[in-house]
Amino acid sequence: MTTLTLPTFADVQAAAERLQGHAHKTPVITSRTVNEALGAEVFFKCENLQRMGAFKFRGAFNALARFTPEQRRAGVVAFSSGNHAQGTALAARLLGMPATIVMPHDAPTAKVQATKGYGAQVVMYDRFTEDREQIGRDLAQRHGYTLIPPYDHPDVIAGQGTAAKELFEEVGPLDAFFVPLGGGGLLSGSALATRALSPACKLYGVEPEAGNDGQQSLRSGAIVRIDTPKTIADGAQTQYLGQHTFPIIQRDVDDILTASDAELVACMAFAATRMKLVIEPTGCLGFAAARQMKAQIQGRRVGVLVSGGNVDLARFCELVGG
Ligand SMILES: *Cc1c(COP(=O)(O)O)cnc(C)c1O
Repeated sequence: MTTLTLPTFADVQAAAERLQGHAHKTPVITSRTVNEALGAEVFFKCENLQRMGAFKFRGAFNALARFTPEQRRAGVVAFSSGNHAQGTALAARLLGMPATIVMPHDAPTAKVQATKGYGAQVVMYDRFTEDREQIGRDLAQRHGYTLIPPYDHPDVIAGQGTAAKELFEEVGPLDAFFVPLGGGGLLSGSALATRALSPACKLYGVEPEAGNDGQQSLRSGAIVRIDTPKTIADGAQTQYLGQHTFPIIQRDVDDILTASDAELVACMAFAATRMKLVIEPTGCLGFAAARQMKAQIQGRRVGVLVSGGNVDLARFCELVGG
């Protein structure tokens, strides 16, 4: 077995240097309407405006930038139907290496096309009869590809932490910070930045109500596995936290909250109407939790990580109800 090395804030700093000139330094947006409604000063870190539409580009690029020349020649393999696929494909193209992405045969055409558009080879599998991790491992072994998982990897975690680092460097220390949670790459990376740059800040992970495995894990002290949750938050339909992400979350995160699909839709509609921001359902988890915590954040300085904006226009309209 490999030994577990947890990333530190120094790794987030190194990742930020690697990302310089490749990732956008995304804007931090404020809204007087939100501030008045919540009685707090709220700062939205807009990773929906990141390259390829989500923070996932940060972790993927950081991981791929650390490949040896041999690893680069052979290329990368990833399994994902969502933002990690596109982030890995784009990072590979920018770094001039081949990418193979394993996607379910019923993945949305738009996502398959976007991934192919970044020059990646897409391998389809049947999600009901085949095991994507096994396919990924087989491809890696057969062709010498390096497998990069969506969250459970030190370089991915360090890369994801650069968004929170930018936020604190721009706005200074905060009293509370709300971060979407799937497998925990974004939350654990954000935790490293938070504890280094704003140590007293209350840090909350936010996951879909239908799949609160992270909340159960934090409260029970061991990684809890659940069935794939049914929720519109497709970026957080993970079944369990990672071996690397969980210990950091246990050490550095104050609590894990949940948001319902209806709350996410309300936030999507609000952000589009009042803030002119297109946010995907998963990207609204932090905002939804900040609204729930209104009583606790009165008069406080609050960060909300908006994690992504990749949602088909037709789907967006269907959800917000026109
Ligand atoms: C992947 C993803 C998440 C969850 O990130 P984890 O690192 O898996 O916790 C949240 N929001 C969006 C938009 C994502 O793509």
